[in-house]
Amino acid sequence: MRPLIAGNWKMNGTGQALPRMAALAESLANEPPRADVLICPPFTLLSRAAAIIAGRIAIGGQDCHERASGAFTGDISADMLRDAGATSVIVGHSERRRYHHETDELVASKAEAAWRAGLTAIICIGETEAERDAGHADKVVHRQIMASVPPAARSATTAIAYEPVWAIGTGKTASPADIAAMHALIRDALGSHCGGEGRDIRLLYGGSVNPANAREILALPNVNGALVGGASLKAEDFLAIIRSV
Ligand code: PEP
Repeated sequence: MRPLIAGNWKMNGTGQALPRMAALAESLANEPPRADVLICPPFTLLSRAAAIIAGRIAIGGQDCHERASGAFTGDISADMLRDAGATSVIVGHSERRRYHHETDELVASKAEAAWRAGLTAIICIGETEAERDAGHADKVVHRQIMASVPPAARSATTAIAYEPVWAIGTGKTASPADIAAMHALIRDALGSHCGGEGRDIRLLYGGSVNPANAREILALPNVNGALVGGASLKAEDFLAIIRSV
């Protein structure tokens, strides 16, 4: 399975960041990566980014609305992302679940909207610190798979990002043993939820991945790539993570 290294820029970056992105694309042209590479910049940069790095790095959105169009001020549809040059979209990021009160059911609808528009959906799941401390991490993640991942998920159009909420942007990463155990659980759950396709859906780990820990994490069983936040904003760090595949 070819790994996927995806960068989530969150609400960071203006046009001034584009030369950085172009330099990264240039480096990858000189040294073809052993992974698919995706950057999800803010909506405002999508078309410009797609024009600069097309072919070398794929471009994705960070969220989409579950409907194709309509009176939803401030929202962006999957068709609009596609039109702007995106090939993927992140749905159900814990920051959307937390600050925008997105439920598992809404996340599943957004994944279906992404597929209807021809986009790959990167569906995020992961437990909070309180849930882990209470010994409920496995139960929470299992529930999120059942409710956030539509059973029609296919490997060509879906990736799952396991992102323990307490590891996002905190500098804390889950231990290799915990990551391997959770990815094994996710793989099993996808097998029963999505049938044979569940075996081939890429499972990304996310949560404070950086150049120092990427190699060990990416070598774990059932880890088929990474969703990288903070470290994706620095071209050298993101490149180092890509190189550690
Ligand atoms: C993320 O935003 O999905 C993420 C994993 O962030 P960070 O790498 O900064 O923890």
